[in-house]
Amino acid sequence: MYDLIVVGGGASGLMAAGQAASRGAQTLLLEKMEQPGRKLLLTGKGRCNLTNVGSVQQFIGHFNPQGRFLTQLFYLFFHPQLREFFEELGVPTEVQRGDRVFPKSENAREVRDALWGWIKEQGVELITNAPVTDLLLEDKRVKGVTTERKKFYAPAVIIATGGAAYPGTGSTGDGYALARKAGHTIIPVRPALVPLVTASDTAPQLQGLSLRNVQVNLWVEGDKVDDLFGEMLFTHFGLSGPIILTLSRQIVDYLRADKNVVIAIDLKPALDHPTLRNRLLRDIEEMGRKQFSTLLEGLLPKKLIPVCVNQTGIPWDKKNNQITAQERKRLRMWLKEGFRFQITGHRSFDQAIITAGGVDTREVDPQTMESKLVRGLFFAGEVLDVDGDTGGYNLQAAFSTGWAAGRATASSLQQKTGS
Ligand SMILES: Cc1cc2nc3c(=O)[nH]c(=O)nc-3n(C[C@H](O)[C@H](O)[C@H](O)COP(=O)(O)OP(=O)(O)OC[C@H]3O[C@@H](n4cnc5c(N)ncnc54)[C@H](O)[C@@H]3O)c2cc1C
Repeated sequence: MYDLIVVGGGASGLMAAGQAASRGAQTLLLEKMEQPGRKLLLTGKGRCNLTNVGSVQQFIGHFNPQGRFLTQLFYLFFHPQLREFFEELGVPTEVQRGDRVFPKSENAREVRDALWGWIKEQGVELITNAPVTDLLLEDKRVKGVTTERKKFYAPAVIIATGGAAYPGTGSTGDGYALARKAGHTIIPVRPALVPLVTASDTAPQLQGLSLRNVQVNLWVEGDKVDDLFGEMLFTHFGLSGPIILTLSRQIVDYLRADKNVVIAIDLKPALDHPTLRNRLLRDIEEMGRKQFSTLLEGLLPKKLIPVCVNQTGIPWDKKNNQITAQERKRLRMWLKEGFRFQITGHRSFDQAIITAGGVDTREVDPQTMESKLVRGLFFAGEVLDVDGDTGGYNLQAAFSTGWAAGRATASSLQQKTGS
């Protein structure tokens, strides 16, 4: 018999288990894989973008609308507390570009190992290779869990099984079935922060090319609905990179609603049309006797030149002083708006950074993470219907919800024992 069982040893489960045990709760952590925190090792391309130093309001703006659920919690445990927590575990952090926080070592393994060491010190009992298959429930109270081999009993259970993204790390969406069994509503889950598939063979031709300082304009059913400035990448199937992943959260929903989705890349976002017109006129005058391809070398990465020649229809070997006003306009329009991709789909959960959807936050207490439907049942991390952009937002949400659930279970125990 334990005071608490935590299901899942990812970011949120490790935090929850350690918090509860450090407050005296007899805690069992059941992890499906052979080691806890496998996804943590992959975060931030192995560097682990732990959090971000934005304000609470900025943070909430980086989540889906249900992210508002996290507001109260962020006023209790946010990036200063998280950074202090890791500092105390011997993992100092630093702020990098985009207000992102990383461990100074830039080593995700250090973060995972520090958490693992910490839960051991707090006396958490960890059982690995122990997938939880069912919840034990009685009269709207949780009594424990079942694994493939055994039943474990406790008056409190935290479901911290993560989402369904990157299933190879152990996060295969098991928590949704467990929550459903307890009567919870599951907002349909779908991949988010996921690369996009395009129709033509242009993206595959450009595979590996990364564009910085471009603006991506999102067109849905002929209307421009959003834009984002930053870095993107071409792949063998379509588009990826930070700004594409961020836009993918809404694009997946548009595609599911059968909408026509087009991405138009503004390759010269710093220049408005009149400025670009003057720049082209000047360049053409200076390079009048040279070929059109030489003009493009000053405007575009090498790999893009054949695509531009093909899509504008201006011969690569045409002398610049023979380029007509109409061709000049065609080039300018292409650079600003004409480089377009029809989006036909998105990659699967295997390549999604995060899961959208999950346990309906209206059925969960925003301060304690306790279920409003079943006593003693708590949720933490990505299993909840909150998903954020890249930039450290998702890990902060996992750590904050884990912190809250772990402390809440320990304090309800203290109330019972009167200690
Ligand atoms: C490649 C990649 C890079 C990322 N980089 C960043 C980043 O730099 N910054 C950031 O903020 N976010 C990042 N994220 C997102 C972030 O990793 C997740 O949002 C976060 O790990 C969620 O934490 P969690 O504890 O909810 O779930 P997870 O970390 O997924 O942990 C869930 C755990 O539960 C276990 N489990 C599942 N089912 C069961 C079961 N039935 N029984 C027992 N155990 C079970 C799993 O094995 C797993 O160990 C990244 C995600 C990916 C895929």
